[in-house]
Amino acid sequence: MRSGGGAHLCFNAAMARLGLRRRISILFAIVLALLAALAWTAWTAIARAQADAREVAHAWRVREAVARLETELRSAVASQRGYLLTGDPAMLAGYHRAAPVIAGVELELQGLLAHQVAEAARARRLGELVGLRLRQLEEALSIYREQGLEQARALLASAERMALEGELVQVADALLAGEAATLAERQRRSDASQRASLAIATAAVAASVLLLGLAFALVFREQRRRWRAEAEMRSNARQLQESLAEMDLRAQELGTLAALGDALQACRSREEALAAATRAAAVLLPEAAGQVLVPGGEGVAEAWRWGEPAVASASTFQHGQCWALRSGQPVQAEHPQAARVCAHLRAEDLAGGVSLCLPLTAQGEPQGLLNLSRWRPFDPRERQLAASLSEQLSMAMANLRLQEDLRAEAVRDPLTGLHNRRWLAEAMPRELARARRMRQPLAVLMIDLDHFKRYNDSHGHAGGDALLAAFGRLLAGLVRAEDVACRHGGEEFVLVLPGADAVQAQARGDALRTALAALRPLEGGRVLPSTTASIGIAVTRADGDETPAALLARADQALYRAKRDGRDRCVVSTAD
Ligand code: GH3
Ligand code: MG
Ligand code: MG
Repeated sequence: MRSGGGAHLCFNAAMARLGLRRRISILFAIVLALLAALAWTAWTAIARAQADAREVAHAWRVREAVARLETELRSAVASQRGYLLTGDPAMLAGYHRAAPVIAGVELELQGLLAHQVAEAARARRLGELVGLRLRQLEEALSIYREQGLEQARALLASAERMALEGELVQVADALLAGEAATLAERQRRSDASQRASLAIATAAVAASVLLLGLAFALVFREQRRRWRAEAEMRSNARQLQESLAEMDLRAQELGTLAALGDALQACRSREEALAAATRAAAVLLPEAAGQVLVPGGEGVAEAWRWGEPAVASASTFQHGQCWALRSGQPVQAEHPQAARVCAHLRAEDLAGGVSLCLPLTAQGEPQGLLNLSRWRPFDPRERQLAASLSEQLSMAMANLRLQEDLRAEAVRDPLTGLHNRRWLAEAMPRELARARRMRQPLAVLMIDLDHFKRYNDSHGHAGGDALLAAFGRLLAGLVRAEDVACRHGGEEFVLVLPGADAVQAQARGDALRTALAALRPLEGGRVLPSTTASIGIAVTRADGDETPAALLARADQALYRAKRDGRDRCVVSTAD
């Protein structure tokens, strides 16, 4: 048992070392050899059966010839007896017919047994005996004709005849027995060869079926291995494709974020920046609606929105109402019972929608809040994208605010909060062009505080500053939205009044002087007195195309006249 298992293992190991194709070829070769052996066995069995059949037929023909010989002889004897008893010559018909027939059968028998020495000798002996017997019959007939019936009977009953009869039967029986033995031998051999053929055929078919089964099992196993390998390859290819598509998507997202960065750098206003962020959000998070809130009032106020929100959010709210603003971290709310649901959201909308709040912070400074909402949760990758978007937006908003501050500083006077001379230089051409387009007058008031040097001397430089600052606020409070007020330098101010003619300009100048007189600036706990101002007024001519510098020069000249005429007054330029 063990040695059989060992051999099996050895065979398996040997097969495993061979290639599959080689193994299958060997198995098929063995099967072919077995089938060839089977065919050979079948062929030899058939040939042997044919030979056996021929021999059996031969034996039967011999037996049949012997039987015919005996029958004919008996028929001749019977015919002769009938004649002897009746004396009727017609009874001799059988006798006469028998002799040639017997001769023919003897010849046939000799031919059939020509190659069997012993049987041929017996056949010859049989022929001789039959010949002797026929001669006895003939002799008995002659005796009958010549000597009568009694003599013929005596001959027929003679011992010689009896002996002849006995030997004849004996030789014929020996011949038949020999053929019977031959027949039995043939039958035995035929049975044995049939059994052997059957056994060989069964073994060969069984072995072929077994080996074919083994070959098919090997082929099937190999095919299954290939199917598995192909499936694995297909799955690997699919994974590769997926990761390539993923990488492609990541590259697109990075490209969009980089493009957003470039766009934000080029933006000049918060609106431009928000519009650029909206375009990027439409690519990065296409299903999400957005809301951007900036610091305003006591909390934050909506400055921008896009898309149809899945979760409604208030347009203004306090910092404390938003978990993202409180924690400084992004907060996603997916259902009304979530741990952290911001108070600025309409909670019932969270039954279907999802909200993601991202604080906008740059350089530690809060810039506001980005709120995104849609109908399914944001996965970690999308939250990362939203975070990148909010970071870029916060940075841009901080930069824009910084730029705005710098720009304001550049065009504003820090002491009075009014625009400065540079800004006036930018505003004047614009205002003049608009006035010309509207066919309206435009008045310029050049205002100079009187004896300000003396005021400084009396109340200190800080006192002078306090008066300048108070006068700046006064001026800012008195001007209308379309008017322009700026500090021209030192204690000199310029007021531009679009649409005002000389009379209206003088009235505004006088009102300003009145208000100035009532001004009581505070400095270091002191209440300081006010001072007066001289105002030179120049108004554009109806048909004029005066330059800003020329108009300002006329106002300056009028101011000079006001000073010369005793200060604390308005003088309108009359020059044409
Ligand atoms: P006038 O009536 O002729 O205009 O006399 P004034 O003294 O006002 O004119 P002047 O040009 O002689 O003197 C202007 C003074 O304003 C001199 C300067 O010290 C003062 N001044 C200019 N800028 C400032 C400022 O920013 N703060 C203070 N405190 N004083 C300033
Ligand atoms: Mg002056
Ligand atoms: Mg002055």
